[in-house]
Amino acid sequence: MLQPVAVASKSLADYTHIVGRPLVEEIRELAAPLEGRKVLHLSATAFGGGVAEILYTLVPLMRDVGLQAEWHVIYGREEFFNSTKLMHNALQGNPQDLSPEEWATWRRYNEMNARELSRGWDHMIVHDPQPAAVRDLVPEKAAHWIWRCHIDVSTPNPATMGQLLPHLLNYEASLFHVKQYVPPGLESGHGVNIVPPAIDPLASKNMALSHDDAVYVCRQFGIDTDRPLICQVSRFDPWKDPLGVIDAYRIVKEQRPDVQLALVGSMASDDPEGWDFYNSTVAHAAGDPDIYILNNFNNVGAIEVNAFQSLADVLVQKSTREGFGLTVAEALWKGRPFIGGDVGGIPLQVTDGESGYLVSSVEECAQRAMQILDDPELGRALGRAGKEHVRRHFLTPRYLRDYLKIFHQVEGTGC
Ligand code: UDP
Repeated sequence: MLQPVAVASKSLADYTHIVGRPLVEEIRELAAPLEGRKVLHLSATAFGGGVAEILYTLVPLMRDVGLQAEWHVIYGREEFFNSTKLMHNALQGNPQDLSPEEWATWRRYNEMNARELSRGWDHMIVHDPQPAAVRDLVPEKAAHWIWRCHIDVSTPNPATMGQLLPHLLNYEASLFHVKQYVPPGLESGHGVNIVPPAIDPLASKNMALSHDDAVYVCRQFGIDTDRPLICQVSRFDPWKDPLGVIDAYRIVKEQRPDVQLALVGSMASDDPEGWDFYNSTVAHAAGDPDIYILNNFNNVGAIEVNAFQSLADVLVQKSTREGFGLTVAEALWKGRPFIGGDVGGIPLQVTDGESGYLVSSVEECAQRAMQILDDPELGRALGRAGKEHVRRHFLTPRYLRDYLKIFHQVEGTGC
C-alpha cells in the first residue's frame, strides 16, 4: 500500500565545484559513522510541490554518502486528501477546523499506513501533518522519529493544532524553515531545529543553461527575446498574487511599452480551485498579447522553467504569503535580478537592495522593476549577489549536512 518512490542516482562529488570542498568534506565526516543507517522519508505525494522536489535530490545524496535511504508515499484516497487539505489550510490559520468525521478519516488512514509500514528503520522522517500520527501508532517501527514541517504553522487554528500537537510532541526532533513557524507549544525542549530547505543546482530546472538554449526555448512560446521580459514562476494561487504581478506589469508598460510578462504556473488536473484561479488570471490579462500565461499543460516542464528564469530581465515572486518559496531560490540561482514580496521565507533569501528587492505593494513592485530595466548594471549586481547567497545557504548539500547533524543529535553522538 505504501508506495516506494524510485529516484535517480546522484553523486555528492559532482557538487564540489559548486558548494566547495570544505562542505563536502564536512558531510563525509558526518556521514562516515552513520554508514548503513536505514532512513525512511514518509510523505503524502511524489508529485508536485516542494516536498517532492526536495526528496528527489536529498534521497539519492543520502544514499551516495552511505545511508540506506528510501522514500515511501503513504496511501490515501480522496476523502483523506480532502481532510488533509482542510487541515493544511487550518494549520496556516484558516478558521475552519475539520469536522469530527474528517478527523476520524485522518486517523483511519494514519492507522492503515501505520499497519503497512515496514519495520527496522533507524531514522523515520515524517513530512508534514498528513502522516504525523503514524509515530504514535507504531513507535517500535523506527529507532528515531523526526518530523519535518514544510508549512507555516506559527498562527494555526487553535482547535486544529490542539488535535495535532499531542502527536508532534512525541517526535524526538522536528525541523522548521524559520523560527517564527514553530507552533506555540512546541518551542522548547522538543528537539526543534531551524533548517530551511534547499534546491538542487544540478537538476534540470536549475542547471546552467546557455543563453542560446534559453532563447531557443522561450521563442517557442512566442516570447520576443529582443524585448524585456518580466517573469513569475508559481502555482496559480491567490497568495502568489499573479493578478498583482499583472497590475505591476501594466504600470511598467506605461513607461516601457516594449515590456512582456510571462506567468508560468503548474496545474494539477484534480485541483478545481487552481483552474478557477487560472481562469481569473487569464481574464485579468484581458487578452494583452504581451502577457504569456503558461502552464504544464502547455508542455512547460523543468527545462522551460529554467529557460524563462535564465532569460528574464526581472524575476518576480510577488507573494502575499509564502512558506519558504523554493521558486525564490530557483530564481536567484539563475543570477537574474529578483523582486519578491516581503513575506514568509522570502526575506530569508533576499536582502533588500543587495541581492534583490523586497516589496509590499503593486506600485513598489513596478517601481523596482523599472529601476532594474533602466539600469542593467544594477540588475547584474543584484543578480550576482542573489546567486552567491543561494550558493552559500540554499543548495541541497547544506541541507544534507543539516540532516546528518540531526541524526547524530537524536542518536546522542553529538557533532
Ligand atoms: N513549479 C514548477 N512549475 C511551475 C510552477 C512551480 O515546476 O509552473 C515548481 C517550482 O519550480 C518549485 C515548486 O514547484 O520548485 C513550488 O515550490 P514553492 O516552495 O515555491 O511553492 P509552493 O507551490 O510549494 O507553495
